[in-house]
Amino acid sequence: MGKNILLFDEDKQFSRLVSSVLEGRGHTVLQAENDEDSTGVLNREDLDLIILASPIKDTSDVSWLAKLRADGNSAKVILVAQNQKHFDTLKPLVTPDLSVSLMVYKPLIPYIFGAQIDHQFDGDKSEAAKQKMKDFETMFLALVTKYARVLPTRIADLSQAIEKAKADPANLDLIAEVQGLAHKIKGTGGSLGFRQVSDYMNFIEEAAMALPSQSREEQLIAWAELDRKLVEAQLAGEAECREINQAVSNTDAVKQVPNNPAMTRILVVDSDSDFLAIVHELGKQRLVDIIRATNHKEAIEKAVVYALDAALINVIPEHPDESFRLARELRELPGFENLPLAFISGQALIKDRVEAAHAGASLYLDKPLESDALEKAVQHLVNIRQGGRPRILICDDDEFFCNTVALVLRNEGMIVRIINDPSQILETMQEYPPELLLLDVMMPAVTGFEVCRMLRQIPRWQDLPIIFLTGQVGVEARLEAFRSGGDDYLPKPVVNEELLTRVKVRLDRARMLKDRSDKDTTTGLLLRRAFSEQLSAILAEAQRLKTTFTICLLDVDHFKKVNDSYGHLAGDKVLAGLGQLLSRRFRVDDLRGRWGGEEFILAFKRETLTTMHLAVSRVLDEFTKLKYTGDKGEEFSVSFSGGIAEYPKDGESVFELVQVSDRRLYLAKKRGRNQIVLDDVECDDELTH
Ligand code: GH3
Ligand code: MG
Ligand code: MG
Repeated sequence: MGKNILLFDEDKQFSRLVSSVLEGRGHTVLQAENDEDSTGVLNREDLDLIILASPIKDTSDVSWLAKLRADGNSAKVILVAQNQKHFDTLKPLVTPDLSVSLMVYKPLIPYIFGAQIDHQFDGDKSEAAKQKMKDFETMFLALVTKYARVLPTRIADLSQAIEKAKADPANLDLIAEVQGLAHKIKGTGGSLGFRQVSDYMNFIEEAAMALPSQSREEQLIAWAELDRKLVEAQLAGEAECREINQAVSNTDAVKQVPNNPAMTRILVVDSDSDFLAIVHELGKQRLVDIIRATNHKEAIEKAVVYALDAALINVIPEHPDESFRLARELRELPGFENLPLAFISGQALIKDRVEAAHAGASLYLDKPLESDALEKAVQHLVNIRQGGRPRILICDDDEFFCNTVALVLRNEGMIVRIINDPSQILETMQEYPPELLLLDVMMPAVTGFEVCRMLRQIPRWQDLPIIFLTGQVGVEARLEAFRSGGDDYLPKPVVNEELLTRVKVRLDRARMLKDRSDKDTTTGLLLRRAFSEQLSAILAEAQRLKTTFTICLLDVDHFKKVNDSYGHLAGDKVLAGLGQLLSRRFRVDDLRGRWGGEEFILAFKRETLTTMHLAVSRVLDEFTKLKYTGDKGEEFSVSFSGGIAEYPKDGESVFELVQVSDRRLYLAKKRGRNQIVLDDVECDDELTH
């Protein structure tokens, strides 16, 4: 039955959130913003519950409560503190005579809060009922955290759909796709507590719905508006994810998780609990949060609840397949498509190594582990993930100021490097390429404006986000900041919140743009130019460390026939399918690119011809088993051919290696297609068909 609840809070946004949840649960909510408001309501005899969000204006919460009780009001009370710190100071003041039923602190997840409130009316419930409530909480939290992880992908999908629809404005199906995707995010996101994102999606959905009836000019404006909303939705999404993650860590279900966003979290799966204990200890020393699991079920359960940065899995000697299956299942969980993986094994058979690479492992460690092997492995996994941690460079002659700014940014999980002497800037950026530069204006010998002009003349740094930091606040200085090629301007003294907001907005936009310009929309893989750039970096690393790497050129077989027989759209579906398969298989740090048309390219670090041959052949096998449907509904499947080359055996430059693999690709075609070639033995033309 619905209850009468007084919600006493000055924070309108919070009130709106909580009352909509409570009303949704069938309660009547009476709102009060100040003491006066509340008096009338308090006299009602049928008042069941008071939710008091501290602090109240002009009076102390505790004395307000004391008066309430003195007046003989016996309604239940829930006290909401502003944050954890506030909660801690308030707690000792709330004595038993005030009979407060529950104390919580913001941020809260509305849904869970609603359930907690209902729980107040359960009376003295049985243990079983309490457990049920706990289970619900855990499950719901798992859902929310999981959605927080997939939300960026969902928004990226929407972004791709928008790009496609824009390129082909007459195609109503594409517009319907945009509308459908936005609608889904609006619904799911909204009910899980992502309110701002949900509002943006509502806008996008409605704008898409209106498009077909608009003139060309109106459409152009609408698309521009849609683009803007999408960027805003992405930013709001990230903010809401952070907030929700924080709220999740406030609840009991995951209390044991240290709330440190900068801390790396690695799942370690091993049936040997002694080994787990050692790894756990090691993790503590290295500020790595080790999540332990002793079996498959536990591993999946934990992966659903925790946001992981990597996983380390022990290969069970009798059932190696079990471990690989676990790895694959982890990678299939939403948000874990790119989870870095490593295996530990007592017997490293080549077959297992290939299987591991196929399941997406970046590392294969031999057991027993050398003393520092584990540490190195953890570092390696962290480095892979650090692609996700932004690199910032601060150039300012004031050392103290640099350190303060760095502290604020590092606290948010960013990697920060400082230089005090601007003459070192190019050298530093060569070795530590930043994603964003914070640049002081007044420095000895040279001004920040001059440094900025100089950087903008170098093609590599033309798009680097640059934010000026300076004590000069005049209009002229501000204009000069933009004239010299800066993106933004922050006056000193810097306000931390403003610094963070500006840095994040710039970073997000730069990343989004880079992603758009680096990746092909059909396959989701790197475009030729971006691939080549990253391949050069792999070559440089292999030269320096004297290791090997391999590349493989792939070409879809008889693709012209696919287009001719089943339609161009079906052809595109095949390319998209292969793109997805290639991104899901192999390791996170392997490169995958679309070389052009129906040609793809892969690069595997530290591998040889044989291992790459096995791994790619397995994907070929999987690919040929996929069924596609043509324009008229007919089923078909496709194969590809490939040629592999290894550094330095087959060539010492990217050009030579591509040439060799192209030659072997041609051989694969000649030998009858549907195969990967790693040698140069000419075959009889008779075999071709
Ligand atoms: P082979 O087995 O020898 O590689 O034969 P093939 O037909 O695949 O080779 P060919 O190079 O003659 O034909 C490639 C075709 O791929 C021609 C081109 O129209 C088509 N193609 C290239 N890019 C795309 C694309 O983005 N989408 C679609 N649907 N087709 C494409
Ligand atoms: Mg071709
Ligand atoms: Mg082809």
